[in-house]
Amino acid sequence: MTSLTRADWEQRAKTLNIEGRAFIHGEYCAAQSGATFECISPVDGRLLAQVVSCDAADAEIAVRDARATFDAGVWSRLAPAKRKRVMIRFAELLEQHGEELALLETLDMGKPIGDSLHIDVASAANAIRWSGEAIDKIYDEVAATAHDELGLVTREPIGVVAAIVPWNFPLLMSCWKLGPALATGNSVILKPSEKSPLTAIRIARLAIEAGIPAGVFNVLPGFGHTVGKALALHMDVDTLVFTGSTKIAKQLMVYAGESNMKRVWLEAGGKSPNIVFADAPDLEAAAAAAAGAIAFNQGEVCTAGSRLLVENSIKERFVPLVVEALKTWQPGNPLDPATNVGALVDTTQMNNVLGYIQAGHDDGAKLVAGGKRVLEETGGTYVEPTIFDGVDNAMRIAKEEIFGPVLSVIGFDTVEEAVAIANDTVYGLAAAVWTSNLSKAHLTAKALRAGSVWVNQYDGGDMTAPFGGFKQSGNGRDKSLHAFDKYTELKATWIKL
Ligand code: NAD
Ligand code: MN
Repeated sequence: MTSLTRADWEQRAKTLNIEGRAFIHGEYCAAQSGATFECISPVDGRLLAQVVSCDAADAEIAVRDARATFDAGVWSRLAPAKRKRVMIRFAELLEQHGEELALLETLDMGKPIGDSLHIDVASAANAIRWSGEAIDKIYDEVAATAHDELGLVTREPIGVVAAIVPWNFPLLMSCWKLGPALATGNSVILKPSEKSPLTAIRIARLAIEAGIPAGVFNVLPGFGHTVGKALALHMDVDTLVFTGSTKIAKQLMVYAGESNMKRVWLEAGGKSPNIVFADAPDLEAAAAAAAGAIAFNQGEVCTAGSRLLVENSIKERFVPLVVEALKTWQPGNPLDPATNVGALVDTTQMNNVLGYIQAGHDDGAKLVAGGKRVLEETGGTYVEPTIFDGVDNAMRIAKEEIFGPVLSVIGFDTVEEAVAIANDTVYGLAAAVWTSNLSKAHLTAKALRAGSVWVNQYDGGDMTAPFGGFKQSGNGRDKSLHAFDKYTELKATWIKL
């Protein structure tokens, strides 16, 4: 794919042209207020760009334009086969600009360049392509009516979609929304996180180049409490789709209730249990997966395996295997292709994570790996992947989503106890089970209250299966054909024959 070295990436970073403006009706533009904010790289603290800070005035313009574009039918009434071709072209453009997008992502949020390129950009393009390819293969329904009636059950695009996304997989979370939202014919306003706005801003231009009409895909960078809130409270936004924290997810439901009852679809936080039974098929593989489950993407993953539940009979043997496996996950320069742990997204997030490590000590958990800030001399925000053993599920580090590389190890004795601990959380995003007993695997998987369950692996999945949460991890699903439900209204048309 690429043979670029760290020096090559550094060189490209120096000459990179970074766009920081909003994108409305096919044009980059300033905010009405003229306000901007500084975009700082967590890699080394360098200033990357001044980014436009939108507010309610910009939301007003973008929503009005998105509505007019929707009503004009230039995209919403285009034949699905035609929308498909444009979506595929959009995916191809994402791939053609893959190195530029990967570099923007890494500089903006600190993840390793190899991950940005091979995971984020590749999966984002795939999400757009998959959704586009599907759209001319979906049929509507004819109801089982009496002989003298015809009942049509059809899906229509819902109208104006506002998508508010987080900073951990900025491009990918955007594309999980954009794929089905655009494929089904809606107009979209994307509000990226203020911590990582650059790739969203960049791809708006690529969408136009692909042939998506002006006004169909708009980007409003800015803060949650300004432009995010304005979109969520807007009377002419039909659907709000969100990925982010449970705290903000709850607030968005309030905004919808206070305004126009817009549909609200939420992908929120997690505190996912990774359960290792003594009869796991391969303890070393399980340990390697447990290490990756907390260190990948610096632990800034909604499905991070942050609670490792280990059967007590193997715990003394298993924990050292995880500690050993974690040695291969150590922070390094994100522009080095060999790095697999980068910088945390910013100083605030680093201090949150260090605060949780302190809480682990204070609550009496036993530190067995990591625990410190490192590479401080770089000016970046790096924290060692960290493991606490002897954790009780009631401790803060076991209850709250840390969103950083901090693993809590909890012992158990029986299947019932493992399931009870696993489900003793307000979240329900994901869970994993390691066992070679088929019945135990299925029975445990069924008992787990989570939207994704993995057996003898961690974090499997692609566009073919739905992704989302039970309980306070959210509602609705991204990915797969199920995602299309969020972006369409169902209509029944009754014809008397
Ligand atoms: P966050 O909730 O702080 O912010 C998410 C987005 O909401 C940002 O764009 C932010 O600007 C915006 N926002 C903040 N306040 C707002 C308001 N009052 N009105 C409207 N918008 C507002 O989350 P984050 O820190 O960016 O991301 C981390 C969180 O995302 C974690 O909880 C993680 O689990 C979750 N996440 C979930 C999934 C999933 O698919 N379930 C995937 C990735 C991340
Ligand atoms: Mn940033």
